[in-house]
Formats: sequence, structure tokens, C-alpha cells
Amino acid sequence: MRTLSDLTLDNATVALRCDFNVPLDSQGVITDDLRIRAALPTIEYLLSRSAKVVILAHLGRPKGQVVDALSLAPVAERLAELLGRPVNFVVSRDAAEVSQRVAETPTNSVTLLENVRFDPRETSKDPSERETLAREWAQWAEFFVSDGFGVVHRAQASVTEIAELVPSAAGLLVQSESDVFAAILTDPARPLTVILGGSKVGDKLGVIESLLPRVDNLLIGGGMAYTFLLAQGKEVGQSLQQPDFVEDVRSFMAEAIELGVRLLLPVDFVVAESFDANAKTQIVSADSIPADWMGLDIGPLTREEYAGVIAGSATVVWNGPMGVFEMEPFAGGTLAIAHAMAESSAYTVIGGGDSAAAVRVLDVDETKFDHISTGGGASLEFLEGKSLPGLAVLKGQ
Ligand code: ADP
Ligand code: MG
Repeated sequence: MRTLSDLTLDNATVALRCDFNVPLDSQGVITDDLRIRAALPTIEYLLSRSAKVVILAHLGRPKGQVVDALSLAPVAERLAELLGRPVNFVVSRDAAEVSQRVAETPTNSVTLLENVRFDPRETSKDPSERETLAREWAQWAEFFVSDGFGVVHRAQASVTEIAELVPSAAGLLVQSESDVFAAILTDPARPLTVILGGSKVGDKLGVIESLLPRVDNLLIGGGMAYTFLLAQGKEVGQSLQQPDFVEDVRSFMAEAIELGVRLLLPVDFVVAESFDANAKTQIVSADSIPADWMGLDIGPLTREEYAGVIAGSATVVWNGPMGVFEMEPFAGGTLAIAHAMAESSAYTVIGGGDSAAAVRVLDVDETKFDHISTGGGASLEFLEGKSLPGLAVLKGQ
């Protein structure tokens, strides 16, 4: 993969793709600026080369239209605070006007263009449409630096097409995220434990398939656990379940036995009468989920067992919360895993958007983890062993 040292950046005008897709509250205030902070090293590196830094980024899913609530204006403000210098925010999306504005800005400066997804060509399925947008940026960009790890699994104008029009390289964030996940796939310190939770088994089947031959322990929790229970012929009551995937799950369980992988399922659950923070709850064993109740968290015995496995591991990768952590009565399992990881001496990686959010919401010390990924989808696809289009374009000379 080409890196920053492959480009002669001094005084150059650089188009920099960042992932500034941060969560906003109902007043439009940024509630978590992890992704903006993660972009600072590359921006500062480019400034140290006296580059003219022009950032391309998106926020949310405006679907090719101008949506005022998804303006990057609050991001420009936060970025300026974090950098301690002004950020020139360009609202206009008229190609000639943008070129003019970029031409006028001095070197050693930072400019942010408005949400690239306000333009339907950014995410168009038609590569030639994406290319016409990328050509507008290529009019002023001498180089392209790709540093939005959260979007490298997408073929989009500001990720892939622009990289083919001007000399390009990975930024420091994309480089370090790629290095972390590549090392997990190829040369992890063992035992390697992967913890999978969250709500979508379907999305994570590919990850299980790719990781099974590589891991020592696979711990299952969250909403995906119940489909595994179904595959064992157990009753799961009203819990989240995806019967379509029972066959796949059954074959994974058989494969784990063949490979000698420890695939652990929860032995107990916190079940509730309804999907509600104030619902009546009880703790039950995995064999006795009542028909009218739903599992919303892993139980205390499971937490203890999983924490023990984490303590005995050398590498731990976690994707997906263990329960509905957004509601306090069902946050205990997720919190227990986060604490066990924080306290372990293993190399610890958090790979999911919601898992990373849980750590911050539940006030676990982030500095106790070795790597918190900024890209949930991208890190999953990386672990699936897929070729990511935004990385593939940075390969070669
Ligand atoms: P990540 O973003 O970390 O990959 P997912 O997006 O797959 O994770 O899933 C996160 C969601 O899973 C959370 O909103 C959480 O509330 C939900 N979840 C976890 N456990 C359960 C459960 N038992 N039932 C329903 N939803 C669950
Ligand atoms: Mg998620």
C-alpha cells in the first residue's frame, strides 16, 4: 500500500478523505468526536509539509440531496478547536467556485468542503458518474490521501475514483487500522479470542466463516446468540432470532469441533417481559428461556466464564455488544466484557461501531484498549478477508 512517504507533499494541494461521520444529538451537537480526533495525525503531518489540506468527508445519509441537518459545519468548528487553528469551510458545491476558493487559500492551511454525499454522484452505482465528480476535485488536487478508514469498504467518488485520477496514498489512520487488522489475520499473539455480539447474525456470518480457522476461542453473545441456541434445538422465547441462518450456524458449530476451536455460547441470560428499560426481568439458564420472555443480555455466569477466557488470552478482538446496553438493566454483560478487556494484559481491539460507542457511553477507560477502530463495517469486511475497494486502489506503485 502506498503511504505518505511515497508522495512529495511539500507545499502541495492535497485532497484528504476523512471519516467525519460523527453522531449528533437532536440539537445537532456532536456527541462523540473519536473520528475527528483520529484524523488529526495525518492533518498535522500534511501541515508540517506546508501542504494546502482540502478535506472531503460525509455525514449521515443525505441520499444525494442537501439536508441542512447533515451539514459538516459543526464538524468544521470542532476540527478547528482540536487543531487550534482556523478551518476554512466551503459550502458551495459549484466546481468552478470550489476551485477558485481552493486556489485562494494559502499553503499550510485546512479547508473542509461541505458533505460530499449532498451530491448524488458520490455514491452512484455508475462508476462513470462517480468519475465526473472526482474529476472536479482533480482540477485542484495534486495528490489524494485516503484516511477515512470507515469508508474504505465502499466504492465511492471520494474513496476510489479520485484515487485513480491523482497520485494517491494511505494516510496514517488508514495505515494503522489496516496494519492492526492485517496482523490479526496473519500473525496474532496466541491464544486469539474473538468476541462477537450485536444484533445482526447475517452480517457477521462471513466473519465467523473467515475467522473460525484462525481463532483459538470464539465467544458469542448479544442478539446473535439466540440463533445459535435455535441451532441446538433450544427454546429462545421472544428473543431476537434469525431462523434463516440456523443451518449456517449449525455447520459453524460442527466445524469448530473439527478444528478444535472453543466456540462458547452463553449459559445464562437476563430475560425481560418486553423490550423496555422498565420491564420485569429475571436471570435464567440457557435451557429455560420462558416462551413469553426475551433475552436482552448475557447472564452473570456467562460474564464470569467469558472474562476468564479473556484473562487467559494474548489477543482479544471484540465486535458487537453482549446485550441491549442502551438500556441500563441490560448493559451489565457488555460492561463486564469491556472491563475484562480493559484489565487484561492481552492486545485488545474493539472493531464495531456500537461496541466502541458502548465503551464510551458506559464510561470505561478508552486508553486501556490497544486499538479502537473508527470503522465498524470496514473492519468487519477486512476480517472477512474481503478486498476493500478503497485499499485496493492504493496498492501498486
Ligand atoms: P456493532 O456496531 O458493534 O457491530 P451491531 O450493530 O451488530 O454491533 O449491534 C448493536 C446492537 O445490538 C445494539 O444496538 C444492541 O442494543 C443490540 N443488541 C445486543 N444484544 C441484543 C439482544 N439480546 N436483543 C436485541 N438487540 C440486541
Ligand atoms: Mg452497529
